[in-house]
Amino acid sequence: MNKRTALVIGAGIGGIATAARLAKNGYDVTVLEKNETPGGRCNQIVHDGHRFDLGPTLFLMPEVWEETFAALGEKMSEHLDLRRIDPTYKVHFDDGLQLELTSDMGKMQTQLEKVEKTAFTGFLNYIAEGSKHYKMSLKKFVGRNFYNIFDYFSLRNLPLLFQLKTLTKHYTNVSKYFKDERRKAAFTFQNMYLGLSPYDAPATYSLLQYTELAEGVWYPIGGMYAGIRALTKIAEKLSVKFIYNAPVKRILTDKDKVLGVVLENGHPLFADIVVGNADLPYLYKELLPDTKEAKKLENKLYTCSTIMFYWGVDKEYPQIAHHNVFLGGDYKASFDQIFNDHTLPEVPSFYVHAPARTDKAAAPIGQDTIYALMPVGHLDARDKQDWSALVDRARATIFTRLAKELGADDLKEHIKFEIVYQPEVWKERFNLVKGAAFGLSHNFWQVGYLRPQNRHRQYKNLYFAGASTHPGTGLPIVLLSARLTTERILKEAGTIAVQKAVKPVLHTA
Ligand SMILES: Cc1cc2nc3c(=O)[nH]c(=O)nc-3n(C[C@H](O)[C@H](O)[C@H](O)COP(=O)(O)OP(=O)(O)OC[C@H]3O[C@@H](n4cnc5c(N)ncnc54)[C@H](O)[C@@H]3O)c2cc1C
Repeated sequence: MNKRTALVIGAGIGGIATAARLAKNGYDVTVLEKNETPGGRCNQIVHDGHRFDLGPTLFLMPEVWEETFAALGEKMSEHLDLRRIDPTYKVHFDDGLQLELTSDMGKMQTQLEKVEKTAFTGFLNYIAEGSKHYKMSLKKFVGRNFYNIFDYFSLRNLPLLFQLKTLTKHYTNVSKYFKDERRKAAFTFQNMYLGLSPYDAPATYSLLQYTELAEGVWYPIGGMYAGIRALTKIAEKLSVKFIYNAPVKRILTDKDKVLGVVLENGHPLFADIVVGNADLPYLYKELLPDTKEAKKLENKLYTCSTIMFYWGVDKEYPQIAHHNVFLGGDYKASFDQIFNDHTLPEVPSFYVHAPARTDKAAAPIGQDTIYALMPVGHLDARDKQDWSALVDRARATIFTRLAKELGADDLKEHIKFEIVYQPEVWKERFNLVKGAAFGLSHNFWQVGYLRPQNRHRQYKNLYFAGASTHPGTGLPIVLLSARLTTERILKEAGTIAVQKAVKPVLHTA
């Protein structure tokens, strides 16, 4: 019997995982990637002996990763050497106060009670709520498909929307557990991983703090790209064909189905199904003919963007921990400036990553590899931003705080080279609409069934897997997207029963 064929547009983690799952279920799959390597936003930069993660640096929800490997017939522990990072972060407040987020409860208690007597009890209750949100969401919300509006707003599902506090804002909710503004900030800034303001994000996202402290923040030796390498190798073992430097120009449509794609070089390719892994609003806008739907998507809310510095440094800075967060000034104002004014806040917060603290091979001996991420507004067509000036201000802020708070006052002189990413680069390199680094936003109106679905309404054999479709952004969440999209494809192809989540084989740390 002839195998069913699939074309996947994009070799981001969502594209690779969907391709591998489809191949495992008997499809003949070809992945078309515009760039020269797989990984998309989860890529790496290797330069002069320094290895930088391009985007993601936090390996979260290992059980979701394990489920992916298990579904592909593999054991994660045979592919990835994961190290737990604890303390997860060092958080620096601009008044000099520091907080080490750790799963060591004794240390947490001492640190929290130093500032606010009831903060440790608040913390325990907050984490307990996060645990409830995490378990419930994974099973009933982010870990399942909603095939129609009645599925989502069903009598069975409605209580869930309240139990998960989808209508309460995260910042309002955290205020019930902590009084001190710095504590509230320390337990909500993680929303920025989703490119969201805690003033807009649903309180459901307390699940992030739970996963970090209870399930752990991990780091694979070899960098986050080790995850991409492993999944690509498994996909290739399952006979998935990857074609790089092959940007897709157009999806070929015919009434209620798609026929295949045309590459930028004019070459047509045909298949039974097409899976779009490139940013979903981009796929609608640039590769499909329906401009009305594309316009609607363009008007949706988008996540923030980032200014990134990748510095190869000829000196070691052991005082910079693996993960460091520097929170700045007026917390609320900084989110308003990012999400409403679409710019760099006056007093910006930022994150610094020094992977050589855990993985020595990330830098040459006696040297350091430093990545700094500063959240900024996404591109705004009505109000053009001067990115070169904003990049200079971002860099100066980072130097000042690293010098003042960590004594790294000679960092500037020791930088051998600098690579910069800013919103225009994110847009150009990965076709991210508005340069929004995390894709479509995740407020109440853009999650669950209300998020763009993983199959096109009109073209019944065009599917989507990735950060801007259900369930959303973040590597493990995109791995869930790959599972849900595959389940849907298999269900609708009627080939075999819906593929169930496979019980993973637990890895050993
Ligand atoms: C700065 C930053 C930090 C992050 N930190 C974390 C973190 O610590 N932990 C975490 O879990 N997540 C993190 N994330 C989120 C995570 O990186 C993303 O959610 C995830 O990588 C998205 O994967 P994807 O497959 O949906 O999309 P992508 O990675 O964008 O992949 C889509 C692919 O499609 C390709 N493509 C686009 N257009 C075409 C075309 N026309 N033809 C062919 N190919 C095309 C692109 O080149 C790309 O390779 C971070 C993201 C960023 C940007």
